[in-house]
Amino acid sequence: MIVSVNPANGKELARYELHDDAFVDNALTAAANAQKAWRRVPIEERVGLLKNMAKALRSGKSSYAEMITREMGKPIAESEGEIEKCAYNCDFYAEHAARYLADEPAPSNATESVVEFDPLGVVLAIMPWNYPFWQFFRFAAPAFAAGNGAVLKHANNVPECALAIQDIMKEAGCPDGLFATLMIDASKVADIIADDRIAAVTLTGSTEVGAIVAAQAGKALKKQVLELGGSDPFIVLADADLEEAAKVAVKARYINVGQSCVNAKRFIVEESVADRFVELFLEGVAKLKIGDPMERDTNIGPMARENLMSGLHSQVERTLASGAVLKTGGKPIEGAGFYYPPTVLDNVKPDMVAFCEETFGPVAAIIRVKDADEAIRLANQTEFGLGSALWSTNIERARKLARDIDAGAVFINGMVASDPRYPFGGIKRSGYGRELGIYGIREFVNIKTVWVG
Ligand code: NDP
Repeated sequence: MIVSVNPANGKELARYELHDDAFVDNALTAAANAQKAWRRVPIEERVGLLKNMAKALRSGKSSYAEMITREMGKPIAESEGEIEKCAYNCDFYAEHAARYLADEPAPSNATESVVEFDPLGVVLAIMPWNYPFWQFFRFAAPAFAAGNGAVLKHANNVPECALAIQDIMKEAGCPDGLFATLMIDASKVADIIADDRIAAVTLTGSTEVGAIVAAQAGKALKKQVLELGGSDPFIVLADADLEEAAKVAVKARYINVGQSCVNAKRFIVEESVADRFVELFLEGVAKLKIGDPMERDTNIGPMARENLMSGLHSQVERTLASGAVLKTGGKPIEGAGFYYPPTVLDNVKPDMVAFCEETFGPVAAIIRVKDADEAIRLANQTEFGLGSALWSTNIERARKLARDIDAGAVFINGMVASDPRYPFGGIKRSGYGRELGIYGIREFVNIKTVWVG
């Protein structure tokens, strides 16, 4: 049984029966069969499905957005933005997929030699609750365009969203069986990964679960893409535009109530401008409106689950106990729902919890450094390597420093965000593989050499 809870008031929303083993077995057979037919459909026709997915998303936008907010507490305006972004991603790949996967000549001494991009088969997608639509559609649009099928094991705190995705695919005209949502417990995943009908696995989630899934997929020798945790640095150098940096920093930390892998989490600031930056940052934080996530002007709704909130609070307490300075926030808001206030911790040092661990919620850690070299060193002193931001008015120098940052992305004078036009993913314990852009669509393909003598 899956029980969903509204994080804004802690009350039960609904109960869902789990799918049994026979349902899963049928779904895998159906997906494998449907994919064999789908791979023969020319890509120019396959992208028609993506266009219809975009239409279905847009036509149900307000109801899907409410679903997201109801189940995981994201402020409604951000939920609507999520649905729009999913639709844009489908349109984007509908337009570019055929070019991204066109045969590539590989000139040699053969009469003809060429690289083809064939589909892999059925991909198991294990997805998290923090962007319950985006995480799936980010993967699915390119995967279907490339000729793959998919089965989805979604996070069990967003079951209504998981089933809505199935409805959207049906409404879009997805061939029978090519896609299925599986309402299953995480303990059932290992057998599915090992199943011959599954060709590959994609997971967005925690580093801990990433390591488990990677081991299972590795044992079965199956291709994986892993998008895991992050502890992104947001570096502010002395010559940065501080007003703009602080404004963007507040958004970069608190969007999605701080529950994104690419939220800025560690604010590494040159000492000479740190007092001013902290002052501006706190001014921005004070303007954030905490409240009912269904209200349009709310910036900070509840966190998605009670255990996520208590885990975050423990991280704050341990960081303070080791000497950090609390500037604002710092303990759960009393009353119904899983509300944690925007919290700012100053004078955080590299051995403190808020520096070493990912903080998945509305908590900012300010780290003061003596110069740019120390900033880059500390930015890299983490097990993660997803995104990063670097603020400086000297672009030439910033470009040079960006080379030294160990991350899948460096945004200079901006905040990290995923976008179908460029690749997204991490290094180190943030995972491997890439989503989005041309690199994303080429993950779940068989890069096949065809050689004609
Ligand atoms: P999890 O990593 O536990 O959940 C992500 C997905 O993996 C869910 O679908 C979950 O299903 C599934 N899952 C859990 N355990 C297993 C398993 N043993 N085998 C296969 N699949 C499994 O994240 P949480 O929701 O528990 O969040 C914990 C932390 O993870 C956060 O605080 C954050 O640090 C990180 N996280 C990172 C995300 C990102 O975007 N990179 C997104 C979400 C979380 P089920 O719901 O049934 O457990």
